[in-house]
Amino acid sequence: MGSSSEHIVMLPMMAQGHLIPFLALARKIHQLTRFNITIATTPLNIQYLRSSIYEDSSPTIETDSSGIHLAELLPFGSVVDQSKPSNTDLNAENLPLDRMAEIFSLTTSLEAPFRRLLLDINKKEGRPPLCTISDIFMGWAVDAAKSVGTVNVTFISTGAYGGLAYFSLWLNLPHRQADCEEFTMPGFPDRCRFHISQFHKFIRMADGADQWSRLLQPQISQTFQSFGFLCHTAEEVEPHALEWFRDYIKLPVWAIGPLLPTTMVRKSSCSGSSISKHRAGKEPGISPERCVEWLDLQSPDSVLYVSFGSQNTISPSQMMELAKGLEDSRNPFIWVIRPPLGFDMTGEFKAEWLPEGFEECISKRKQGLLVEKWAPQLDILLHKSTGAFLSHCGWNSVLESLSQGVPIIGWPLAGEQAFNSKMLMEEMGVSVELTTGHDRAIEAKEVKKVIEMVMDKNGKGGEMRKKAVEIAHKIRAAVVEEGGDQKGSSITALEDFISAILTRRFS
Ligand code: UDP
Repeated sequence: MGSSSEHIVMLPMMAQGHLIPFLALARKIHQLTRFNITIATTPLNIQYLRSSIYEDSSPTIETDSSGIHLAELLPFGSVVDQSKPSNTDLNAENLPLDRMAEIFSLTTSLEAPFRRLLLDINKKEGRPPLCTISDIFMGWAVDAAKSVGTVNVTFISTGAYGGLAYFSLWLNLPHRQADCEEFTMPGFPDRCRFHISQFHKFIRMADGADQWSRLLQPQISQTFQSFGFLCHTAEEVEPHALEWFRDYIKLPVWAIGPLLPTTMVRKSSCSGSSISKHRAGKEPGISPERCVEWLDLQSPDSVLYVSFGSQNTISPSQMMELAKGLEDSRNPFIWVIRPPLGFDMTGEFKAEWLPEGFEECISKRKQGLLVEKWAPQLDILLHKSTGAFLSHCGWNSVLESLSQGVPIIGWPLAGEQAFNSKMLMEEMGVSVELTTGHDRAIEAKEVKKVIEMVMDKNGKGGEMRKKAVEIAHKIRAAVVEEGGDQKGSSITALEDFISAILTRRFS
């Protein structure tokens, strides 16, 4: 399909949860078209991507580093010294939540080097790239693409429901106009009621003049001038939300997800060759093999996996109660632990953040596995012993869990996660929400109660699992690559996107 000399330039947000799907999209497009793909980002994030490309030995992913190029964007004013990243050279994973606005505001300083990159490609290849594909937080890419005579496509690396809610929320600030705590949002049908308590405190305080509104509103608005949107979901998975999203955005939306390794099928054991190395650029908290060996000793669907993604953590008091609740439930678990809020998230984990005697108790009972900082999430979710996922509802985690038919206990923390959690409960019936945010008190007995309910194979937990398995089938069907009637909707959507962008080039 297409011509091998075409070139697409990608611009992801500097955060793990964005780099991972952008790299997966780059691979997918290259695999389909043989186009050259350049991913442009700052040196620190290039390191993550580079190690991800070279370390990924999974035979199911084409490690075609020849087709995927990495271009460094040196932020305006930064010193060309890779041993000392400039203060613009951030990855959201390294930042505490209260400094997150920094990473968003600094992204605009990448515009000048990005424009230079496009001009260089234009000069070298005698024509502009076929298109640019940018993150929703880089709305300025629309004008940058136009300036060299091409178009920008926005890749929304979350789902249609979460994406629409996030857009509508920041552009309309509906809670400011509402006369009560519950209200609807432009773009959603009346049956979808949102409650102010579901919003992060940055959002609750937003009035249009605040720092976050000033950062996000212009970027989101500019994406509406894109050629279209690529959405990290599938038609079968979010049929209604995609319809609402298209109505709202009034641009083509191609649902091309989930961008997961194609042979991700739940196994009885993952020990051995198929263990993935999808972690980029860091020492892992635990070897995938050790994790899987531990899972091999547990019974099917019995283990609760607990993780808050790549850049979030919970408060010290929440951590204590979560630990007590896990211990009291006596349910086997794997918990990815990192320092609580208020401490350096990349620093050492201290035993004092957990209840006294907790580690000894769970190790004596062989009840749990504590993994510092980073776990081989895909391997854990693929394992037949994993029965539920206590998750912050980051979209990659959601897709990874649902693609394995694993139900979710939601604890959304930031971004659009609260909307993902709401959608998982209300639209899909695959999740129950334990709590939200960092500032709410939770009690161990509530944690225990929710764990028992979800792990119960017969009651509500059983129903959630059944629905999650149905969604897993839909996800598999959406990404089937064979031709004819068998071909999945997401593969067809990606082909349609490529055709549309080529037609624009040659018309
Ligand atoms: N991840 C992982 N191990 C961890 C934490 C996260 O492999 O210990 C991966 C996870 O599989 C997912 C990504 O990091 O692909 C996190 O993305 P998500 O959208 O869930 O959350 P974010 O980190 O963006 O908040």
